[in-house]
Amino acid sequence: MAGIYIHIPFCKQKCYYCNFYALASVKYRDVFTNALLKEMKWRAGYIQNEEVKTIYFGGGTPSLLPVKEIQQIIETAYQLFKISNNVEITLEANPDDINQEYLKKLKDYTGINRISLGIQSFFDEDLKYLYRVHSGKVARQSIESLLAAGYRNMNIDLIYGIPTLDDNHWEKNLEIFYQYKLPHLSSYALTVEHKTALQVLINKNKLQNTDEDQIIRQFDLLLKSSAEHGYVHYEISNFALPGYYSKHNSTYWMGGYYLGLGPSAHSFNGVSRQWNVKNMKQYVESQQVEKIILEKEILTKEQQYNEYVMTSLRTSWGCDTIHILNGFGEKFVQHFQQNIHPFIDQKKVKQKGTIYFLTNFGKRFADGIAGALFL
Ligand code: SF4
Repeated sequence: MAGIYIHIPFCKQKCYYCNFYALASVKYRDVFTNALLKEMKWRAGYIQNEEVKTIYFGGGTPSLLPVKEIQQIIETAYQLFKISNNVEITLEANPDDINQEYLKKLKDYTGINRISLGIQSFFDEDLKYLYRVHSGKVARQSIESLLAAGYRNMNIDLIYGIPTLDDNHWEKNLEIFYQYKLPHLSSYALTVEHKTALQVLINKNKLQNTDEDQIIRQFDLLLKSSAEHGYVHYEISNFALPGYYSKHNSTYWMGGYYLGLGPSAHSFNGVSRQWNVKNMKQYVESQQVEKIILEKEILTKEQQYNEYVMTSLRTSWGCDTIHILNGFGEKFVQHFQQNIHPFIDQKKVKQKGTIYFLTNFGKRFADGIAGALFL
């Protein structure tokens, strides 16, 4: 089982909180697409002969690509890889890019069967704080356009912990999501990342800082209301109706192989992890001379164990000591069991047979708990 991630590094403008690699311009779009097609051809062997179950266009803003180019990328993938009959093909889109004509072409020509919409909030004051392009009204219209175009398999992103978002508005955001009966929600706490415009503006007292208590309160509201509406909290930031889990992200969390294409994209094939160069000019030039600029790391057993603990604890499938025993050996199981017990006593972790899960309370501390189990 493998996935392909395609990074489309263009945006209309750079949101204040964003630390993804993306240029606030589409100037290099044509040369980029050609370079990407080249990279796909000569890196196809990275995932060996694994069947490709998912293709994911992320970014950046993939919906800034013309349908013709998306079609060309997907057709090339079909020529180079063993693509599953029921492949999930996701496109991340921003609400301001969605119109009937684009959606019709997308549906008729590309095979995209899942859309992930970067809504973030339905309230203009939050969107202004984040420096998003769209308004709350356009956010709703984009969902309605997708539903009218026949897209059912759909995710939206919502951010909590925005200083302008009080608890009532957060509940209202969630209510709007439930009203549309959308099958999938990715929801993240606003994080002030290093070297972002948000960090600079907060440091200059031009924007209000985030508040830990607000983040915890709104995370708890999210857990409670999503469960009441029948959503499964299957990964710390992801909620889905049964049958609508993101197959692509599940590949990451279950240790499957993936090939990342485009500047800054990551790849993993069980043995090594690779990161493409985070620079458009260097990326395009490197494809012309067929010499990938990337960093590569061969994972040690300890690193593989740490990754398994980190990702599995964040999921509803939990962390299984049988998997640790078979994959890494007895010494790793002993280390895990010695260090997990304080968290069981603190009611942050629960155990079912050989499998350990975070409790709702423990989900607040996911990173710290995983860190304490690392080798
Ligand atoms: S649209 Fe997405 S990728 Fe682009 S700047 Fe905003 S958050 Fe970053």
